[in-house]
Amino acid sequence: MLKIAKQDNFIKFLGTAGARFVMIKQLRASGGIWISCRGTNVLLDPGPGSIVRCSSARPRLDPSLLDGIILTHRHLDHANDINVMIEAMTEGGFKKRGIVFCPQDALFEDPVILKHARNLPQEIRVLKEKSKYKVGNFSFRTSIKHVHPAYTVGLRFKLGNSNISLITDTKYFDGLADAYKKTDTLIISVVFFEPRPTVDHLSLAEAGELIRQIKPKRAILTHFGMTMLKARPHIQAEILTQKLKVEVLAAYDGMTLHF
Ligand SMILES: [Zn+2]
Ligand SMILES: [Zn+2]
Repeated sequence: MLKIAKQDNFIKFLGTAGARFVMIKQLRASGGIWISCRGTNVLLDPGPGSIVRCSSARPRLDPSLLDGIILTHRHLDHANDINVMIEAMTEGGFKKRGIVFCPQDALFEDPVILKHARNLPQEIRVLKEKSKYKVGNFSFRTSIKHVHPAYTVGLRFKLGNSNISLITDTKYFDGLADAYKKTDTLIISVVFFEPRPTVDHLSLAEAGELIRQIKPKRAILTHFGMTMLKARPHIQAEILTQKLKVEVLAAYDGMTLHF
């Protein structure tokens, strides 16, 4: 099992699947992202298989080490395993610990977090746009509200000396790039290879436009839909690197970034 040292700062992709078909076929895993910040461990968007991905990670990630779980929005590819991860974080509900962060609509309308699971963590905090939150040594801010069928926010946080932004599911809109300026590492959910204006997700060209405007030191593409997988994300990342003169990488399942 992984001994996470206090000084370790890392992000590990437990999945890189985006939207329905890549998820239901598990062409990429959909376990979310594990963030470790100076001994504080947080799991972001535990989609289907998150618990399996934690235990099959090498080295294994122990969910009872989690201090927090963050849900950017209630869609299944982000939220499916949240109840089981709450149980795991609280050691089957026997230890009242950890904070769960989620938008209001994860709790009240057709809730994705079950009533029984809500009593297990120390606290449930409702995520709102442009707000600050903290759990242990990990602080983060939410972006402006994204344009997406469920209430959705992106995140900004610091690991070591790096400013990291995560643009989760959204339609492209004016002002989106402004919400993520001054970023060193930019992680973007890129579902579509070609723009599809009627569906509220980013395409590759729109991700490129965001990178051009935000000017991070490096960008990581993730959350791939079928058309992105067919276009081979690592090749598209290379093309964007040449075009934008910014290092662009395609995330893969198990990819770990140290800070
Ligand atoms: Zn999604
Ligand atoms: Zn979504």
